[in-house]
Amino acid sequence: MDDSSRRDFLKDLGLGAAAFSAAAPSPQTSRLPGQPPSGESAAPSSSPRSIMAIAAHPGDAFFAMGAAVALEVHRGGQGVFLSLSLGEKGSARIAPAQYGRLQREASERAAHSLGAQAEFLSYLDGEIPVSEEAKLAVGDSIRRHRPAVIVTHWRGSWHKDHQACYSIVNDAVFYAGLPALERPQPPHDVRTILFADNWEDANGFSPDTYLDISPVFDRWTEACALFPMWRGENGFRYNDYYTSLATARGCLSGFKYAVALMSPPEQLTRRVQAL
Ligand SMILES: [Zn+2]
Repeated sequence: MDDSSRRDFLKDLGLGAAAFSAAAPSPQTSRLPGQPPSGESAAPSSSPRSIMAIAAHPGDAFFAMGAAVALEVHRGGQGVFLSLSLGEKGSARIAPAQYGRLQREASERAAHSLGAQAEFLSYLDGEIPVSEEAKLAVGDSIRRHRPAVIVTHWRGSWHKDHQACYSIVNDAVFYAGLPALERPQPPHDVRTILFADNWEDANGFSPDTYLDISPVFDRWTEACALFPMWRGENGFRYNDYYTSLATARGCLSGFKYAVALMSPPEQLTRRVQAL
């Protein structure tokens, strides 16, 4: 393996990425012989920030994005989970109307247990439209909650609702910040957008940020366990997958548990006057 392919290999493993800790000023990894330098580690920012998870379905919001929300709330910030649908068609055994109610109830209980809010739009599961109405509705929610950070779906998904959510959020952030667009709430600029590590959105997902979720790992998994689907009842073992993933991402970043996040390319641009 030559130097450049080795670097690519390590980069694919996430060893070239930045690691952010809310619990400790630096991760517990040491550089291995021959290992390329990794990105910077950052101590917690001085003030907690408000954060919104915007997902196609409640399971995505809590399983793939929830730990990041839980952490920010733990630090004293505000957290909102916005699901564009109830994910009501997710069960092969329970009729959509009843399953939608269960999903809503689980979301509200899970959000409450994390000290956050749960909100929903009323689009049908599997039929979320990439429409101006949806973009404006999400944009209005962003203006109302005024998050500094949004975590949402990466576009590289095989699920059409997840792809739709990515597109909707992208334009909703634009609408939220557009001063000339008159809406009920004043405009709001979102400072940071991050894409979540979701098993259904893995196509081209390349994390650049590792977030230490060790302080909230237990309460996050307890919140997820309020959803029956967490235990694999709908065919995918979410509990095994996301707890193992948090362990694996933690190994790569030097934390006990971590989530990996991906930034839009333009967010990674650095403007410096010295290297
Ligand atoms: Zn989903």
